[in-house]
Parts: sequence; C-alpha cells; structure tokens
Amino acid sequence: MKIIESNLKFRNKLKKLKEPSMIIIHHAAHSSATVLDIHRWHLENGWSGFGYHFLVTKDGQVHRGRPENAIGAHTKSYNNISLGICMQGGDYEVEKISEKGFKALIELCQYLCEKYDVGTIKGHRELTSTRCPGLNFPLVEVRNKVFNYFDTYTVKTGDTLWSIAKLFNVSVETLMELNGLNSSLINSNQVLRIM
Ligand SMILES: [Zn+2]
Repeated sequence: MKIIESNLKFRNKLKKLKEPSMIIIHHAAHSSATVLDIHRWHLENGWSGFGYHFLVTKDGQVHRGRPENAIGAHTKSYNNISLGICMQGGDYEVEKISEKGFKALIELCQYLCEKYDVGTIKGHRELTSTRCPGLNFPLVEVRNKVFNYFDTYTVKTGDTLWSIAKLFNVSVETLMELNGLNSSLINSNQVLRIM
C-alpha cells in the first residue's frame, strides 16, 4: 500500500488510538483541497490539525494525515474506535467519485481491514446527522468490494422489503439498490442480496 507521508505538525500531543474497529468515510466538502489545506483550516479552527487519518485524492493518491495510532477528530462519539478517511471532493451529491479515487479507497480499506481486523465500514452520514460524504456516495458498493462477499436471504411468504430491511438493519433503498429492484415487489423463494 503506497501511502504518501505528509509529516504534519500537530498543535497538541495526540491521544493514542487503540485497536480501531471501524473505518469512517468522509468528503472534504471542497473540490480540490489538499492535506495541507485541510490541515491549515483545522488548525485555524483551533483544533490539533488535520482530523482524518488519510486523504484520498481524485487521482488516486493516498496521503497520510494523523498517524494510524492517534485518535482522529472526524466523527463525534466514534473517534476513539475508528480510522477516518477523507475523500477529496466537493459534494458527492452532485459530484461522482472518480474511478481512480474509488480504486484507491478500496485498496486502502482492504489494507486497513486486514491490518487491524476491521469488519465495519461506515459513511459519516450513517452515524450522525450529516450528509457527508454525500447522499450518492457509493457506500454499499465500497463495502461489497472491500469485503468481497454478499449475505443473501431467501424471501418467505409474508415477507416485505420493509420487514427484511428491519431484520437486517439496512434500508429499503439499500436492498433495492443491491438487488437492482425498480419496485418493492418481491416473491417467495426469491434470493436477495443483503450486503
Ligand atoms: Zn464527514
């Protein structure tokens, strides 16, 4: 895994991160911001500095932010258990993730999941009330690619997409997207992909 060192100087001594169990994906909310730009902004906010552990650029480079063994500042209530990845890009509601950026993100997630035995990848918006990294950011696709497997469920009589979504704690939209469904109609014995 090629990680470009940024050698950032942080304002305060960073606290130790022990055994991360989650990766959280963000966007930079700026189309072209670099690690140094974001570091400067976070320092100007009075924070310790760049709040994420990595920045993945649109051309597929992975830059280091905070050291992997330091607690980040990116997701309230989750910083002490997670690694934060920031995707360079403005707004993944209008902007589409670049092919190179997507590939680099998958590689980085696979590398980190293996290194720390992480089994959970979330988008910021799945944890707190924010739109980050954008409603169209392909979180499901990222998880599928990184973990490279799908859970499946065989539809039983009386099931609805809503009951199945509830059962597996996913959204109906996610189920529809995963299974290429145009409507919520499902049939008994149909095999659905869950993750
Ligand atoms: Zn975020």
